[in-house]
Amino acid sequence: MLANIDLHSHSICSDGTLTPEALVQRARAQGVQVLALTDHDTLDGLPDAAAEAARQGIGFVPGVEVSVTWAGETIHVLGLRIDPASSPLMDGLARNRNGRLGRGREIADALAAAGVPGAYEGALRHAASPALLARSHFARFLVQQGFCANTQQVFEHWLVPGKPGFVPQRWAALDEAVGWIRAAGGLAVLAHPGRYRLSETALWALAEDFVAAGGKGIEVVCAGHDAADVQRFAHWCRRLGVAASRGSDFHGPTESRVELGQVPPLPSGLVPIWANWPDLLHNHPS
Ligand code: AMP
Ligand code: MN
Ligand code: MN
Ligand code: MN
Repeated sequence: MLANIDLHSHSICSDGTLTPEALVQRARAQGVQVLALTDHDTLDGLPDAAAEAARQGIGFVPGVEVSVTWAGETIHVLGLRIDPASSPLMDGLARNRNGRLGRGREIADALAAAGVPGAYEGALRHAASPALLARSHFARFLVQQGFCANTQQVFEHWLVPGKPGFVPQRWAALDEAVGWIRAAGGLAVLAHPGRYRLSETALWALAEDFVAAGGKGIEVVCAGHDAADVQRFAHWCRRLGVAASRGSDFHGPTESRVELGQVPPLPSGLVPIWANWPDLLHNHPS
């Protein structure tokens, strides 16, 4: 039996809906043996998640999902097995959060101009702090107000480029984000490559830039990747000589596309990003 390893998930410390403790408990109940908490641009949930994982007897990977701007597009880079006490990482993430602070106000202003009042306070009710406001929190507010039936629809009609509540943002540069992760002793993984609005040529250029910057893996299996995506990015791992990762990108029981741990296994013939983590896997050989 392959170990069930889920290296991408969110808690209320970013835009998930479960506390770190509840997330870990749910992971265990779903049969996950090793879980990474990878909140957007924050490490706040890691101590509670690590403590709960120890109580539950599952392996825990401290992680983060860093927002990056590359060629004008928002890209996500996962940092796995990072040291949460690393100053370069903490300082870098603080810069990204500072950007969130201003953007939250701008999104609310844009929504107000489009006929949605009170979005700043409304979104904030779902978020841990103004510096951690994500589009997901605005999406929940718009659903609550009856503008859309679900958060997916809010993204389609309000919060993406070309729609009234979209505000462009400049996050960290790719090499900066990878640098912070490496400085924290972690492994940088390119998150959900199949979800970016990039041409095949641009996406490959991104993957090459990522590896040149010190990126160590690609998230081959994740929510939003179909079987063809999995094969394509497995091939990219082999071509680039990098490892492969697997994650559900779970945000909560009612909003996520898939349950914790419930994505396919990695295709065979790839080096898993957890290949050198025997301490976490001694009970669960992969
Ligand atoms: P932000 O980092 O604030 O721009 O928000 C990005 C987050 O919004 C992602 O991490 C997802 O959780 C969520 N998201 C982005 N696009 C969609 C979408 N099309 N449908 C649902 N959620 C989305
Ligand atoms: Mn998210
Ligand atoms: Mn992401
Ligand atoms: Mn994510």
